[in-house]
Amino acid sequence: MANLNKEPQNILEVAIVGAGVSGLGMGIQLLKAGETNFKIFDKGHDVGGTWRDNTYPGCGCDVKSSLYSYSFEPWAEWSNSYAKQGEIYKYLRHCASKYGVYPYIQFNTSITGSVFDERAGLWNITTADGKTIQARNVVTAVGPFSAPKVAEFKGAEKFKGKTVHTAAWDHSVELEGKRVGLIGTGATAVQVGPAIADKVKNLVVFQRTANWIMPRPDRNIEEAEKALNRKTPLNMKMNRLGVYWFNELTAPFLILKYDMFKAQPEKMASSYLARKVKDPELRKKLTPTFKFGCKRVLVSSDWYPTMQKEHVHLETSAIDCITEKGIRTADGVEHELDVIIYATGYEVRHTGSPIDAKGIGGASLNEKWKNGSEAYQGISTAGFPNLYFLVGPFTGPGHTSVIAYAEAQIGYVIQAIKLRQKRKLKAIEVKPEVEQKFVNSMDFRSEHTVWKSGCASWYLSPNGRNNTLYPGLNAEYRMRIARFNPAEYVLTGANGKTVKPKVSDHISTGLMALKAA
Ligand code: NAP
Repeated sequence: MANLNKEPQNILEVAIVGAGVSGLGMGIQLLKAGETNFKIFDKGHDVGGTWRDNTYPGCGCDVKSSLYSYSFEPWAEWSNSYAKQGEIYKYLRHCASKYGVYPYIQFNTSITGSVFDERAGLWNITTADGKTIQARNVVTAVGPFSAPKVAEFKGAEKFKGKTVHTAAWDHSVELEGKRVGLIGTGATAVQVGPAIADKVKNLVVFQRTANWIMPRPDRNIEEAEKALNRKTPLNMKMNRLGVYWFNELTAPFLILKYDMFKAQPEKMASSYLARKVKDPELRKKLTPTFKFGCKRVLVSSDWYPTMQKEHVHLETSAIDCITEKGIRTADGVEHELDVIIYATGYEVRHTGSPIDAKGIGGASLNEKWKNGSEAYQGISTAGFPNLYFLVGPFTGPGHTSVIAYAEAQIGYVIQAIKLRQKRKLKAIEVKPEVEQKFVNSMDFRSEHTVWKSGCASWYLSPNGRNNTLYPGLNAEYRMRIARFNPAEYVLTGANGKTVKPKVSDHISTGLMALKAA
């Protein structure tokens, strides 16, 4: 029988898939908790995930940097209140170095599958290069935005110019003095459009849906303020707290569907549009026809000015096809272009598993999730012991920083891992009825959200269900998962028999929760 207390050298306590914001955070917290027997696997060449891979012009974050950073690592070096991609990437590399995580990461490694060995209480994980790794626990931290969504248009293969997707930006594509078409008007497009407009000869923006836009109250952070922040991290912590609670208190306006939460923000956004865009025809084109918050509310102060530049044209006639020379719209006009930029988003997973996993009895997670991904607290699912998801089903951020969700989940997973070690457990598996009750409550609460008020967005699966975003406040979610409750899980002991949680298990997870609070 495998010795669960002192692992053979080649058995990891934890295998983490992904070295983006959440996977890296998991690694840091494991080290802080004294756990060194883990490895992070990433298909890329460095940490950073989406912030390593998305390098399109203007790429940045529409959550303030004070909150889009780890709570334990405020950073005095941000040059703006809203950071650009390069600085976020730099920050994540700084965190990986400072907390000594790099030696625990295996880059250029894709995980192709993982099979749970019930007898040994081990995950056998395979990599694309044919190696097998054994780990007691697997934590997936793959993020929702790793695969570009390439919208399919008739004739796309005929285009003689250059084509580029924002999520896989090709820096060799020349834009200077070119005729450029930008497809999409989402969070990415409103960053890339203004960033390239002054370079190009002319820009045609192909808009299918106008979005709600709020101004971005960005500002430079001067050297004097950086110096103050370096000396007094408390200043940064207070700033973070202010941004966090502002987002929490205004969350109902972004999340709930009821008119009492829509009137005010719609009025504010409409009056911003009216102030910035004088031409009534253009204003009409830019006016959304769905409820505020149904799709992601965009934060940009330069989209409306860009749309009014002489050489920028907002095209609202639908794309009919792509031709050799450019894009033909439904009104019969052929827009001649040298470059087409797809800002058409990502293939966000609503069904199927982030990694190919086979759990108890060889059951496939892809099969279990074929009609929709579901997990208790967004973290664990019955039939797949010792497998945890970060920012999994139902736990994406609708109104605040993803890091606020990931950090809470990391604390929860570490409690589970510590419990496994303390009790020398083979398996910790959520009870199906506990998971189902949570899923039912998420479905019920989602009915009250604006996301289901009639628009189409990546928040919803093709059958119109929200299993992507958390339908509530982050503070409430954090309280919900502050303590890992062993009574909600089936615990399998070293002898393969079910064991009951002891009072001391409740006390130890409670103490860990208190320490983290
Ligand atoms: P998105 O929100 O999915 O927007 C894609 C855009 O492409 C939409 O305007 C969509 O129009 C359009 N589109 C897609 N297929 C089309 C087609 N066949 N014909 C015409 N138009 C088409 O993608 P995104 O802008 O990349 O943003 C995705 C998410 O990434 C965001 O919601 C956000 O969570 C994240 N993001 C975050 C930041 C940040 O600052 N933190 C920045 C960028 C992205 P419809 O609206 O009509 O579908």
